[in-house]
Amino acid sequence: MNSKNDSSLSGGNELLKIFQQTGALLEGHFLLTSGRHSNFYFQCAKVLQYPQYTEMVCKIIANKFKDFEIDTVITPAIGGIVVGQEVARQLNKRFIFAEREDKSLTLRRGFSLEPGEKVLVCEDVVTTGGSVFETIEIVKQNNAEVVGVGFIVDRSNGKVDFGYPQISAMKMDVISYLKDECPICKEGIPLVKPGSRKIIV
Ligand SMILES: [Zn+2]
Repeated sequence: MNSKNDSSLSGGNELLKIFQQTGALLEGHFLLTSGRHSNFYFQCAKVLQYPQYTEMVCKIIANKFKDFEIDTVITPAIGGIVVGQEVARQLNKRFIFAEREDKSLTLRRGFSLEPGEKVLVCEDVVTTGGSVFETIEIVKQNNAEVVGVGFIVDRSNGKVDFGYPQISAMKMDVISYLKDECPICKEGIPLVKPGSRKIIV
């Protein structure tokens, strides 16, 4: 339980079932925002629209950090907010979030961090970890201390390392293809842009 990249797959099958039942994890032929094609699409918000599932997945993060000294939970907006709020509720800690202003994440709404404050950073989905790294920088700029990072889905399949104790509820290896090399295109299956329900062809 003390390894740096501790990730829980206990209850993994149950989680996977929830992700499929809520339509968060779709199988088919999808156009990703990167322009690449994939046979999987994942939309975490579809799980987090149900408070009982939010409670369940956030418990994995809260359990990992329950014995850590933590003052505050922070997340980047928007996807992370519901995760941070629920983890903070379970740990009975303060919760704040950073949001984009002129492209960079910043604390607004009177949120602040004290020097030496111990902070847990949370997020919903991590692919490259850009927003989490930016949030870590905000904590450091305020001379507060990052104690760990918790997130629901690791889409880098464990490749992202934030340099602090970290946990994801689930790891996914997202395989994607260049348009011209896509085997699903070759099968003639219509291409779908997720969220729009539109077939692109
Ligand atoms: Zn394709």
